[in-house]
Amino acid sequence: CGIFAYLNYNVNKERRYILQVLFNGLRRLEYRGYDSAGIAIDSNSSDPIPSSSSSNSSTVSQPPLVFRREGNIESLVKSVYQDVAETDLNLDESFSVHAGIAHTRWATHGEPAPRNSHPQSSGDGNDFLVVHNGVITNYEVLKETLVRHGFTFESETDTEVIPKLAKFVFDKANEEGDQTVTFNQVVLEVMRHLEGAYALIFKSRHYPNELIACKRGSPLLLGVKDLTENMNNASAFHDEKFLSKNDHPKELFLSSDANAVVEHTKKVLVIEDGEVVHLKDGGVTILKFDSDKGKHGGSFSRPAS
Ligand code: GLU
Repeated sequence: CGIFAYLNYNVNKERRYILQVLFNGLRRLEYRGYDSAGIAIDSNSSDPIPSSSSSNSSTVSQPPLVFRREGNIESLVKSVYQDVAETDLNLDESFSVHAGIAHTRWATHGEPAPRNSHPQSSGDGNDFLVVHNGVITNYEVLKETLVRHGFTFESETDTEVIPKLAKFVFDKANEEGDQTVTFNQVVLEVMRHLEGAYALIFKSRHYPNELIACKRGSPLLLGVKDLTENMNNASAFHDEKFLSKNDHPKELFLSSDANAVVEHTKKVLVIEDGEVVHLKDGGVTILKFDSDKGKHGGSFSRPAS
């Protein structure tokens, strides 16, 4: 029912602060109604570790941590802090880049329960995580295909096919020797198979410090808070620095509701149907998905870098 993501770039933020931003984002979404909530954040070790599955120098981060709960936001908040207290997770640990995602769910497929809450996962290791607003109408046929390829499903949601499809696409590319497959390429391939309505945010341990969001039929906004002076007036919209890759310390927000973004920044971009937003290395790239062509559109639809 509501999706939210927060990415800080080139500015140190403590885990405590990152959690607060995610929880506040969820609180801004709760007026829309929900039955469960969840978040995913990076785990203790923020350093990427060498990937054992490939011979090249690609990296994979430690598995992201996922917290999901049925009920209200405050019970999620409480359980996260309880879990944190019971583990060696350090609230003071700071990250110069950190990508977190969050969700409030209004169940359409599968009863309200932790296993059906989002983020939904590709499976052990949380290689791909997805928060979703909307309904995937062809999930049954996708599920059957993925089961035939050896995937086991934990939830009754329509959403779970999405992270599993992403893992399938990623693994297939790697098996075929394409170890340079980008996050964009994975998501564009996933979108090719999805029918229905969605706003999605993807997080992956194979693409640490990156987020991808896309939408068709459900709302999605991007907010950019440039922490360099004089970069936050609304007219900076059309300033190429709004989207271009630069080293300015910044905070980036994705949300299904303007409410959760405007408290941080006035620089908000409404994402259109079929657009894919890629946050990476301090830059924002927006690609247009072209389903008619049956392959990546590849064209920039916005004044990107
Ligand atoms: N259809 C998804 C589910 O039931 C997402 C629901 C929502 O938009 O919150 O899990």
